[in-house]
Amino acid sequence: MRKSKALVFEMGQPGRRALDLPECDVPAQDAAALIPEKYLRRSPAALPEISQLELMRHYTGLSQRNFGVDSGFYPLGSCTMKYNPKINEEACRYAGFAMLHPLQDPDTVQGALELLYNMEQYLAEIAGMDAVSMQPVAGAHGELTGIKVIQAYHRHRGEARNKVIVPDSAHGTNPATAGVSGLETVEIKSYADGSINLDALRAVVGPDTAALMLTNPSTLGLFEKNIEAIAEIVHDAGGLLYYDGANANAIMGIVRPGDMGFDVVHFNLHKTFSTPHGGGGPGSGPIGVKKALAPFLPAPLVTFDGEKYALDFDRPLSIGKVHSFYGNFGVIVRAYAYIRAMGPDGLRQASEDAVLNANYCLARLKEKYHSPFERFCMHECVLTSKKQKPHGVRTLDIAKRLLDHGYHPPTIYFPLIVEEALMIEPTETESKETLDGFIATMLTIAKEAEEQPEMVKSAPHSTVVGRLDEATAARKPVVRWKKS
Ligand SMILES: *Cc1c(COP(=O)(O)O)cnc(C)c1O
Repeated sequence: MRKSKALVFEMGQPGRRALDLPECDVPAQDAAALIPEKYLRRSPAALPEISQLELMRHYTGLSQRNFGVDSGFYPLGSCTMKYNPKINEEACRYAGFAMLHPLQDPDTVQGALELLYNMEQYLAEIAGMDAVSMQPVAGAHGELTGIKVIQAYHRHRGEARNKVIVPDSAHGTNPATAGVSGLETVEIKSYADGSINLDALRAVVGPDTAALMLTNPSTLGLFEKNIEAIAEIVHDAGGLLYYDGANANAIMGIVRPGDMGFDVVHFNLHKTFSTPHGGGGPGSGPIGVKKALAPFLPAPLVTFDGEKYALDFDRPLSIGKVHSFYGNFGVIVRAYAYIRAMGPDGLRQASEDAVLNANYCLARLKEKYHSPFERFCMHECVLTSKKQKPHGVRTLDIAKRLLDHGYHPPTIYFPLIVEEALMIEPTETESKETLDGFIATMLTIAKEAEEQPEMVKSAPHSTVVGRLDEATAARKPVVRWKKS
């Protein structure tokens, strides 16, 4: 299909219109009578004048320049860009959900409250927690809420604890959360195999430890085998364990953070539970906690007395509200539809397939791409461009070259502790044929890097714009139309 590269301002002819407006049925007024002289235009605005069909083709063409999981393989590590079944969209658009008013009398929204209540129960079951709040609206927001709950718990016990321990592989939101909460971050180094250094942990825990924040599997896609020992060390010092649940796609129905010793967990419904993701939201980051922390959860929680669902605002130890009303209800409905459709066995299978797919990619790519860890991975694998380095080819070049082949690049340069990292998370929703196609392309690029490195270093060649100076593009974006 021919895609016009013209700007909308360069299209059309004077007098063309995309729609017909009805005749004005109120008396016309002169703008000069209503708006101060200095704000009036000297000449008419240079608005595009085009037909509806031209307009449709223009915007449809623009939308096709974007890349989404509906248009191709999107293997971003740490993000779980799995496919969102369209039935989830159908469910959340039912008028009985979509048209509710958040201030309606609870008696008139029993179905919506039942859904929230059930979600609290499901997530508690999946995470091995005792109580859940659906209020936070992002993973990072869940972290903030969870750490606030932990602070409230320590304060209630009369303890002043001001340090949060995070491993050097942590997602940036973990130390950021600690900072925003007024706590100090203490970083601990990982062993060369990617696991937590227990001696380093023992050296820093103490009476000032509020919490350890961890994701398991880690951001390296590796399962932390020493998790029980880690939990014991932190708990013995009176600290709590926070589970960053962004990587829960690896563990559903297999292990539970609560059983590993964690006290608080957040979920990213927009990652693990198949709801749209990206472009800044909306998201949903519910948190689950163990019994001792439940009194501090945000208010209200949904309660059920066997007959009726109600909202419990009478929570004197609560940290208060962290969002208006009950969180992003529409996202919760989507995730609910997904969980109900999958069932417990389906969720377990999703995790097993996610882990299988990542290990399949790792096994087939590690001959041509350096694998920094000699272990099985979980739902994502980390490779590097070390083998391409002698040819002058870097991870960024490989990522850009993938664009020429129609793939969204994986996450690159994260985790920070792996030099030239390339982090692939295929997710369970991709077929073997898709993975084989991606792997074949990665192997082709490895060959190109050896034989014609310039081809890779100057990629992409087939996209609308070539290699951008990304720092300048971010600092001085050109968004204005210039008449040529
Ligand atoms: C995505 C992610 C987060 C943050 O979640 P948001 O919903 O984007 O705020 C935190 N930790 C890890 C490991 C993540 O991958």
